[in-house]
Amino acid sequence: MDIEHIKCLIVGGGPAGYTAAIYASRAALAPVLYEGNAPGGQLTTTTVVENFPGYPNGVDANQLMSDMRAQAVNLGADIRRGVVTAVDLDVRPFRLTVDGEKVLEADAVIVATGATARYLGLPSEKKFLGLGVSACATCDGFF
Ligand SMILES: Cc1cc2nc3c(=O)[nH]c(=O)nc-3n(C[C@H](O)[C@H](O)[C@H](O)COP(=O)(O)OP(=O)(O)OC[C@H]3O[C@@H](n4cnc5c(N)ncnc54)[C@H](O)[C@@H]3O)c2cc1C
Repeated sequence: MDIEHIKCLIVGGGPAGYTAAIYASRAALAPVLYEGNAPGGQLTTTTVVENFPGYPNGVDANQLMSDMRAQAVNLGADIRRGVVTAVDLDVRPFRLTVDGEKVLEADAVIVATGATARYLGLPSEKKFLGLGVSACATCDGFF
């Protein structure tokens, strides 16, 4: 079986993953990034981001994430759909499985898998989401 060898593998397609891809591309590490089930990450579940520097009037969250992704691609990152389902960090190079079937080996792995908001599941929670109910740790102080 031919196993693809990757210098720098990034797991996660949120702000952290795309940022890592931008820097790794500029360092000539030919990064490959797997985005998982939520390309763009948690910010794709909101509307306007007001605290990202450089946008005096805020920026549409989906636009921001699609721009981060495009920036990484333009610099040479190879961004792919797929969920990393197994990781063996006891061997060198590291060994990873994508979608339960494709096996890869990587000299370096950057884990940027972020988080998922855990809502309580109350109807009132949905009703007041964004109106006082928040799942954004970095926003809570401001709210
Ligand atoms: C509703 C809401 C509003 C928010 N608003 C703001 C805001 O205005 N300003 C602000 O600063 N922050 C905000 N946040 C917080 C912000 O979204 C997070 O801090 C940020 O997204 C974290 O980025 P991350 O890249 O670490 O992870 P995430 O955005 O969580 O991305 C994780 C990525 O990893 C991928 N992944 C996970 N597991 C795997 C796997 N096994 N294989 C491959 N990929 C995998 C996912 O598909 C996803 O692409 C908000 C959050 C929420 C929920």
